[in-house]
Amino acid sequence: MMINTFIALLLFMAPPQAKTTKAPFPEPKIINHLLSWGYTAVDHPRKVEAIIIHSSYNALTADSFSVAGVIREYKEYGVSPHYLISRDGTIYRLVRNRNIAYQAGKSRLPNGVTDVNAVSIGIELINTPHDSPTEAQYKSLSSLVAWLESKYPVKYVLGHKDIAPGRKTDPWNFDWRKFDRMLKEQKRTK
Ligand SMILES: [Zn+2]
Repeated sequence: MMINTFIALLLFMAPPQAKTTKAPFPEPKIINHLLSWGYTAVDHPRKVEAIIIHSSYNALTADSFSVAGVIREYKEYGVSPHYLISRDGTIYRLVRNRNIAYQAGKSRLPNGVTDVNAVSIGIELINTPHDSPTEAQYKSLSSLVAWLESKYPVKYVLGHKDIAPGRKTDPWNFDWRKFDRMLKEQKRTK
């Protein structure tokens, strides 16, 4: 009886914010393919407040969807996202979360922050301006974003064109409503 009362008291005393604490979301399956360029190494935990979604394709050869081709292109420009998602939905980690990847360029978040690379994580989907991301890519992207949102105080999930209007047009043919729906679904069924 005493113990029951004690437990009841503990429950009563539990702070209300305990309910709103973000539950950890499982890390999706990620293949490490860490690059030696396209980022600045950071040795302390970094504030991540935005996730930037991009599209890219291989323009060097006929195979637009080649993962190796897209990575070769990044090397030519000395850039890289943190993650690259291939047409079959495979997630490649190119730069570690804690490091600053060169992916956003000259851009601006809605809160006025212009050093976007410093406070964001970039995710590239392989698709061209003439096609759309695949179902598998949306699925992998939503699980990756759900995981990142459970790790960091993410305020924004935006397309590259949203933070660099007039300069950038990606992600191409991206269905935000579909993505939002799948993200909610991931969080509900994790
Ligand atoms: Zn981009």
